[in-house]
Amino acid sequence: MGIIEKIAGPLVVARDMSDSNMYDVVKVGDARLVGEIIQLRGEKAVIQVYEDTTGVKPGEPVATTAAPLSVSLGPGVLGQIYDGIQRPLEILQKKSGAFIARGISADPIAMDKKWKFVATAKKGEIVHEGSIVGYVQETEYVKHYIMIPKGIRGKIKNIGSGTFNLKEEVAVIEDKSEEIKITMMQDRPVRNASKFAKKFRSEEPLITGQRIIDTFFPIAKGGSAAVPGPFGAGKTVIQHQLAKYTDADIVVYVGCGERGNEMTEILTEFPELKDPKTGRPLIERTVLIANTSNMPVAAREASVYTGITIAEYFRDMGYNVAIMADSTSRWAEAMREISARLEEMPGEEGYPAYLSKRLAEYYERSGKIESLGGKIGSVTIIGAVSPPGGDISEPVSQGTLRVVKAFWSLDASLANARHFPSINWLNSYSLYLDALDPWYKKNIGERYIENRQEAMRLLQREAELKDIVQLVGEDALPDSEKVVLDIGRMLREDYLRQSAFDEIDAYTSFKKQGLILGSILHFSKRAGEAVSKGVSSQRVSTIKARAEISRMKTIPEKEIESHSKKINEEIDKEVNALIREEEGEVSEARAEEKVSK
Ligand code: ADP
Repeated sequence: MGIIEKIAGPLVVARDMSDSNMYDVVKVGDARLVGEIIQLRGEKAVIQVYEDTTGVKPGEPVATTAAPLSVSLGPGVLGQIYDGIQRPLEILQKKSGAFIARGISADPIAMDKKWKFVATAKKGEIVHEGSIVGYVQETEYVKHYIMIPKGIRGKIKNIGSGTFNLKEEVAVIEDKSEEIKITMMQDRPVRNASKFAKKFRSEEPLITGQRIIDTFFPIAKGGSAAVPGPFGAGKTVIQHQLAKYTDADIVVYVGCGERGNEMTEILTEFPELKDPKTGRPLIERTVLIANTSNMPVAAREASVYTGITIAEYFRDMGYNVAIMADSTSRWAEAMREISARLEEMPGEEGYPAYLSKRLAEYYERSGKIESLGGKIGSVTIIGAVSPPGGDISEPVSQGTLRVVKAFWSLDASLANARHFPSINWLNSYSLYLDALDPWYKKNIGERYIENRQEAMRLLQREAELKDIVQLVGEDALPDSEKVVLDIGRMLREDYLRQSAFDEIDAYTSFKKQGLILGSILHFSKRAGEAVSKGVSSQRVSTIKARAEISRMKTIPEKEIESHSKKINEEIDKEVNALIREEEGEVSEARAEEKVSK
């Protein structure tokens, strides 16, 4: 038991703490607020408190729990909405009303709920940390595997299927003469990455249904991506889109104190959303961590770790997990605030010198792995960054860009022009393309890669031409280049632009993406041919089929295949007619010439 000496915002200094360890969780003051020791100086401890410290006084007691900040994991985690230290918001609100009272503790998962446990391991088997001994069918699509917790190893003495709650033992492990009871719940410390057996290079894309991402800047399952962008550029909408539509098995969404109402949006909207593939409520595969800006900074700092640890837990069961954090800048600001209060030597822009190390440690927890229990799973990390004024030379963006391999750069000018998602196609990148190419070839076809390269080449050429047009005007361009400008416009407007609010447009399957892009490029090829034969670019770009292409994104998945076939045929028909007409006019003109001679 220690005694509080000093309080400074979220930090509390206590003496008589020589019995405690770094990163121990402590209960602070008479209100028993949750805190964590972040510095030990002799018998004094500096504690960061995850709740509002108003009213806490020197002389009040501090009790250590002698355990690090951990999350409790087991059946019942899915569908939960937590605060930064894994307290279920619903229970907190029930206990304290709209404003969360302090010092409330709540079980992260319902301890009394009964689950049907199916044993898969047998008596006599040797098990160790991570071994899977059985499962619970937690939701229709998610089997929740029960794994042996850290630090346990031995022979199964007893195990059986049946109906249990989280307090009851489902197996007994024998280690020498000691008997260890296994329940369906385990705790994991959040600050360190969970162990695994092997890490692999990932060769499969995380399919997002967002055309610009899937086609040009994909992310591998087990990869990491950053979405930096100024205020209003669409970071949150993208993160929401990904949370809804990625083909990850499990999604962990960390809302890290941007604006309060955004979190409200997700809290009210999410429970109603349906998975487009299974038709089941999306919340059944989701864990939400909500930190609004009125929650204490330290809790924000913890929420990112709480999220990633939950993600790793499901990864170890063999699932592809995606975790989104919106926005990591708020997390970094929390670090800055705490560091300042600790009077540490500030680094760039006041952030602590260890900022980039923390960011790297976080993103390095992504990856495709074989778990200790022999399952292959992955954690994909997508972090939004909100650099002030959109200037990515600031430390959080830079620290993030050093570690992530995909970069979706949101652009204020695109957002202002209502071009959404405002991912800039000229300066975004993905370093996963090469690793993923074999997957595309095998699953979608050689053609897809060629089309992607051709489309990017056209977009880049369009940008160059636009610079020229600014100087000399469009009329000065030859027709062959006017066509490129037209195709560039089509690619931007009919392909890259994607509304998050249109029911059909919000999600585009890989197949549909391929068909739309295919039609645009087919038109491009035929238009180029027509112009080379003398047809004016203006006539080619006003054919009827071209307008049909712009409608493709809002055509339902079911109808898109026959539609695209029709459009391509229509393009051929109209372009052929233009060419014939042109040739006819040319030969007529020649004939006239002859006659006049
Ligand atoms: P940020 O989080 O970067 O501040 P938001 O994600 O809140 O920005 O986006 C700001 C606004 O931009 C949204 O309210 C919405 O109107 C618009 N927007 C962003 N992305 C899209 C999209 N894909 N489709 C349609 N509108 C979008």
